[in-house]
Amino acid sequence: MNSLLIEGTFVNADQIFSGQIRVVDGLITDIGENLGTPDYRFDDTCVIFPGMGDIHIHAREDAGGTQNYKEDYDTCCAAASHGGVVHVAAMPNTPEPLINSERLAWHRKRVANLSVSILNYAGVGPGTKPLSEHVPYKVYTGPSVGPLFFKSETELRETLQHYRGKPVSFHVEDYDILKASEGKKTHDQRRPKSCVLTALRYVLALIEEFDLKAKLCHWSCGKESLELIKEHRANGFDTTIEVSPLHLYFDTDLLREKPELWPYVQMNPSLQSREDRLDLIAALKEGFIDFIATDHAPHTLDEKFVQFKTIGEENPEDNYKQLLVEDIDLCRELCCKNGTSGTPQLDTYAVFATWLIAEHGFTLQDIARVCCENPGNFVTEFYSGPGKFGKIAQGYYGSFTIMNLNEPTLVQREDIKSKAGWSPFEGVTFPGKLLMTINKGDVLYDNR
Ligand SMILES: [Zn+2]
Repeated sequence: MNSLLIEGTFVNADQIFSGQIRVVDGLITDIGENLGTPDYRFDDTCVIFPGMGDIHIHAREDAGGTQNYKEDYDTCCAAASHGGVVHVAAMPNTPEPLINSERLAWHRKRVANLSVSILNYAGVGPGTKPLSEHVPYKVYTGPSVGPLFFKSETELRETLQHYRGKPVSFHVEDYDILKASEGKKTHDQRRPKSCVLTALRYVLALIEEFDLKAKLCHWSCGKESLELIKEHRANGFDTTIEVSPLHLYFDTDLLREKPELWPYVQMNPSLQSREDRLDLIAALKEGFIDFIATDHAPHTLDEKFVQFKTIGEENPEDNYKQLLVEDIDLCRELCCKNGTSGTPQLDTYAVFATWLIAEHGFTLQDIARVCCENPGNFVTEFYSGPGKFGKIAQGYYGSFTIMNLNEPTLVQREDIKSKAGWSPFEGVTFPGKLLMTINKGDVLYDNR
């Protein structure tokens, strides 16, 4: 029998309480005041959340292994543990897309005994059919990274009619508008808000037509789009929404002043205006947006700085740094050109949440809702194990994200565990510190 006793202040989405928790063989068995001498005791400067979950990440590994140079399941787990994340859900657009049971079996076998719990999405692409296994699905309405996407609403409808009632997550961008905007100057102009809004209209209609249990990924736009979703929900659909830390922290108003940041923050859908960003923060706080999900995309710096490859001898980021000093106008021009979309964000998941608390007045329970309980509810239905994720209660997994809210963390490149080896938040000081990550009774990370 494997047993663990923890004492401190525990935060669920619906309550905060102090006391002790006993974990036996990975599951929470007892909650009380005097269960015994604790293995770990945390004073009241610390808070113990249910283990956090990131339900949208890219781990890049597949049977072919061609992208293991930038991440694999092991380094993905290291980054997650370092980010306070005990469970992740991995997207299917690897070089060999996960679109059938055979490939699902390969991934399930590969992740079966890893320290962090990993759930795989199956991809929906032109001509695919649902799998016999119960899995979450992912649809790309427009091209992002990889070949798994649709070019028209008609093509999408033809495929989606087979997925009636299934759990489907959507990447919402319209192919035609992306194509028409290709040559524009900056990433937000090449992937404008209209491209999300146009696709959103037909995506919501398809969700209603095929009664999908839908989720909208990495939401980037404010008011107008949120109004459309509100109307859709009023029709009786409980479609949920993710938002990425990047879209909550950076915006194009900042990038107009500092275009040299573009290579570090380019992702799809694009960042939008400050107004959009503040709308997203408000919607997350009031519970309209359901999840913080990073869209962790571990591309290397060489891939991010692809526009700087040919202008010097050194590595592309060094060329960039040199040009930043010697010819800032040219540097900025190259930064605005198309690089590689996606940013590594698993390492900073938990500390980012402390910024929302300190800067935007989120309560501890708000954080437990968007980082723990909602993600836990999302993944639990797909696992066959004995417990549940997302809450500190009997019958749930003994998984915890333990933080000190008053001790700041400076994000530094050398600390990043993702194989990509960098973070868009480098140089940022977040107000809190991650002390410990525990999954199913096992300590994955200890930074006390
Ligand atoms: Zn993604």
